[in-house]
Amino acid sequence: KSFEDLGLSHWLIDATNNLSMKKPTEIQSACIPEILAGKDVIGSAKTGSGKTAAFALPILQKLAEDPFGVFALILTPTRELAFQIAEQFRALGSSINLKQSIIVGGLDMMTQAIELSRKPHIVIATPGRLVDHINSSTNAIHFKRIKFLVLDEVDRLLDNTFASSLEIILNELPKNRQTLLFSATITPEIEELKNSSKKEMFVYRC
Ligand code: AMP
Repeated sequence: KSFEDLGLSHWLIDATNNLSMKKPTEIQSACIPEILAGKDVIGSAKTGSGKTAAFALPILQKLAEDPFGVFALILTPTRELAFQIAEQFRALGSSINLKQSIIVGGLDMMTQAIELSRKPHIVIATPGRLVDHINSSTNAIHFKRIKFLVLDEVDRLLDNTFASSLEIILNELPKNRQTLLFSATITPEIEELKNSSKKEMFVYRC
């Protein structure tokens, strides 16, 4: 399969060409059409399988069709992963006027609050720092209309360290969003999450 076969727009195919992504990886071939079709998705994938582009490409396509407010929230367990994800969005979205904000610990809260108040298209966050913003008096977060929630390394996000933060964040989000879960392995906790979802989920197992 080619990126064209998956239903991606020309400007995104140009972006993949510029990044020497010649053809879709397996997880991209499986998940991109389902995400474009509006489905919730669980994808199991190791690092290096191209999972970031598997969600970044369809999110960018949908964003370009209908840009408004904060469009997508990406949660990931570590700062390093947040920066890597942001870099791929930046590279793939270089031809549109993409505004994104990285909300992780160790950086200035006020600067982040100002960024959030400007309603970036994409917010990439670690749970703890995002909750600090939700709880802060300046609460500059406008997540009521997001279209996509991505939980990257969801197996780690579901463990005890993050559980309470995740609950607070999920309360800020609309129910009629698309949810995309990615994990190295599909754990019993992820199965449980899948079974509790009212929407049908597409599952890709590597
Ligand atoms: P990830 O699994 O998301 O951490 O991606 C691993 C690396 O593979 C990143 O550096 C991507 O830029 C690269 N990559 C993603 N998709 C493709 C593709 N279809 N062809 C070649 N490289 C890719």
